[in-house]
Amino acid sequence: MRKKVKVLGSGFSSLSAACYLAKEGCDVVVYEKNSQIGGRARQFKKEGFLFDMGPTWYWMPDVFERFFKDFNRTPDAYYKLEKLNPAYEVYFGLGDSVKIGDDLDKIYTLFEKEEKGSSKYLKDFLKLAENNYNVAVKDLVYRPGVSPLELISPKTVTKLNQLFFDIRKLIQKRFNNPRLIKILEFPVLFLGAKPGNTPAMYNFMNWADFGLGTWHPKGGMFEVADGMASLAKELGVTFVLDAAVDKIAVNANGVAEGIVVNDEFVEADIVLSGADYHHTEKLLAEEYRQYSEKYWDKKTFAPSSLLFYVGFDKKIENVSHHTLFFDEEFDSHAEYIYDTPAWPKDPLFYASFPSISDDAFAPKGKEAATFLIPIAAGLEDTEAYREQYFDIIIDRLEKLTGQKVKNSVLFKESYCVKDFIKDYNSYKGNAYGLANTLTQTAFLRPKIKSSKVNNLYFTGQLTVPGPGVPPALISGKIAAELILKKEGK
Ligand SMILES: Cc1cc2nc3c(=O)[nH]c(=O)nc-3n(C[C@H](O)[C@H](O)[C@H](O)COP(=O)(O)OP(=O)(O)OC[C@H]3O[C@@H](n4cnc5c(N)ncnc54)[C@H](O)[C@@H]3O)c2cc1C
Repeated sequence: MRKKVKVLGSGFSSLSAACYLAKEGCDVVVYEKNSQIGGRARQFKKEGFLFDMGPTWYWMPDVFERFFKDFNRTPDAYYKLEKLNPAYEVYFGLGDSVKIGDDLDKIYTLFEKEEKGSSKYLKDFLKLAENNYNVAVKDLVYRPGVSPLELISPKTVTKLNQLFFDIRKLIQKRFNNPRLIKILEFPVLFLGAKPGNTPAMYNFMNWADFGLGTWHPKGGMFEVADGMASLAKELGVTFVLDAAVDKIAVNANGVAEGIVVNDEFVEADIVLSGADYHHTEKLLAEEYRQYSEKYWDKKTFAPSSLLFYVGFDKKIENVSHHTLFFDEEFDSHAEYIYDTPAWPKDPLFYASFPSISDDAFAPKGKEAATFLIPIAAGLEDTEAYREQYFDIIIDRLEKLTGQKVKNSVLFKESYCVKDFIKDYNSYKGNAYGLANTLTQTAFLRPKIKSSKVNNLYFTGQLTVPGPGVPPALISGKIAAELILKKEGK
């Protein structure tokens, strides 16, 4: 008899796990509470404009290739990729920006221009980053986080010390120029924590950034989720949309017998949840929850975000597809996110203008823009705050890039803490899960397999390996492998 696996959610981690389980012969049904697949990577369309609602950076193309290769496919059977040049642009002040090129030579030249002699240090730093990438992303992160022993192998043993000091130290030992430091610390933001609280080992993100480059899937990140869903369907997975799971039913022997969805009981041999971990445990009777409210409250969550999806009636000048506004200090903004949660005084922000490189995103002569301000999860989210911060970033955009844009706004839609909670059952409205800090890495993260319910498993950005789209693909693979190992096919 084929094992009946019921999967909660259709984010990247669930899609990945569903593919692996179906390939091995399981009967897989995915239940998604929203009417679109993709989880945080949903798509929003308005008046001929298109927006990726969540992820916009396609990094680590090798992880996607490895995923599709496991099914004898290549990504280009499902979506078309383009390497962006510049990869991104960083604003430091009025009319003062640098563009990160699409190859290492361009980046070395930029570093030399900013700080004489720095390209030599960058080469050494990237050698370490590439080496860490090869050990971590090609191997370590594919381990299930069951035991600390997983981290130990002849290859990794020389790297373990890098788990015990932080990436900020690693960078600041080599570079003095504050602009270069900001650029080198930027990839850490994807891990959801402060550079001073992120293990040095994660400098593999700098290799992902400079060494592997920034890519754009034509039509946006949603096309990647859609491609994975197409693959899943080819493998026999069934999708049920508008299907919020309300309960995981566990019998007296601690076995999940099924789920309740839209008031109907559905039988299961195995339940796998890609919905937020905290929420999933709430679907269980209290005695079957592994982690208390106190546990979650003490954890360092990746930030939430205030987002704006904006249609402009003209092209915006002096910006790139990905533009970072780092004209304010990251450290003081980070204090408002992690130390004393509050709305930030002088926020950094990120803007994406995908219609610069992809006509699908906006009608001719117009520009689609997504603005993102990282904020602490759980902040009070009101219309007044949203408006106040929209004005702040539009004013800054105008000043820094030297143009008027306010009167060219055709429409704007905002998205913040309340929406993350309502749409994704996200803990405190976090945008991208549990941060990868020194004490929340690998086996120190919430576990893939429940210790209280025999046949209940978790995947996604709150378990291993952590936040981001590539980690979500990996998380799905790890969860599927653990299920197949523990439960059989
Ligand atoms: C604004 C934003 C920007 C980001 N930018 C990037 C980026 O540029 N690059 C990058 O790599 N990563 C980025 N990330 C992170 C990345 O998008 C996530 O880490 C990843 O998509 C998470 O996938 P997941 O499968 O873990 O969870 P999710 O995508 O959250 O999927 C969980 C799914 O479960 C569903 N669900 C919840 N409760 C239930 C229930 N009871 N029943 C049924 N279904 C349920 C939800 O609706 C959701 O669809 C970003 C995230 C956000 C929010």
